[in-house]
Amino acid sequence: MTFTTRFAPSPTGPLHLGHAYSAILAHDMARAADGRFLLRIEDIDRQRARPEWETAIFDDLAWLGLRWEAPVMRQSDRLAVYRAALDRLWTEGWLYACTCTRRDILEAASAPQEGAPLTGPDGIVYPGTCRGRRDTGGPAPTDAALRLDMARAVAKVAPEGVSWHETGAEPDGETGTVHIPPQTVIDRVGDVVLSRREMGTSYHLSVVLDDAAQDVSHVVRGRDLFEATAIHVVLQSLLGLPTPSFHHHRLIRDDHGKRLAKRDDARAIRLYRDEGASPQDIRAMVGA
Ligand code: GLU
Ligand code: ZN
Repeated sequence: MTFTTRFAPSPTGPLHLGHAYSAILAHDMARAADGRFLLRIEDIDRQRARPEWETAIFDDLAWLGLRWEAPVMRQSDRLAVYRAALDRLWTEGWLYACTCTRRDILEAASAPQEGAPLTGPDGIVYPGTCRGRRDTGGPAPTDAALRLDMARAVAKVAPEGVSWHETGAEPDGETGTVHIPPQTVIDRVGDVVLSRREMGTSYHLSVVLDDAAQDVSHVVRGRDLFEATAIHVVLQSLLGLPTPSFHHHRLIRDDHGKRLAKRDDARAIRLYRDEGASPQDIRAMVGA
């Protein structure tokens, strides 16, 4: 399999130094291996995605000196693929419909007998309120969130736990085979949402289907997504898709040690460009 990496930004704001590091690393790793570097626009959040951000992303990446293959995959073009996968998972009994509000979840998770609510990759670990409803048959409902029954899924595809090959996870140096015990995935990740009502999909489902469709062999992304990888490996097994290698890189922090988020526009690459920085300056700033 050709060594293939990708950069998968969401067009919901300007690219900042953290994105620059992620994109440069994925690009340079592919070049060093004489492989392929792909781009994917993760625009399933129709409320927040904007075409002008997408244009700005292409512009910043080209300015950084990165080159990627055409055509660029766009998640909004793939809703039918996501729906087909949901119908399959639904029919096979891995999903259930959930109508809980955020408040319902917080209240159920904060009930005195539950102890302090645990947080996982998507926030509070779902307390399981709707799990009993296993109304399968027919296509997957579109008027509710669809959650993965993680205990059932893990029992089927990862009874010994979830593993993947990791080449990053700096600076902790967690390189080699990562192994997460089955009960840890059930307790600390839990029944994540695979389809949000307003999106008809989720980050987790889309990213797994897209990485497979793009033949990505090495997923290069921030350490903040390390915990979500267990979800992705479970989904890959349930859907019969290959599990790529993962390279979770260090996060770029601001001067106060806080990790950069989309809203930190002060760190937008665009602003450094306007101040006369060169692509080499950006590389030096992020240590790439
Ligand atoms: N779209 C995600 C983000 O911008 C990246 C997802 C990934 O690399 O798996 O945070
Ligand atoms: Zn629910």
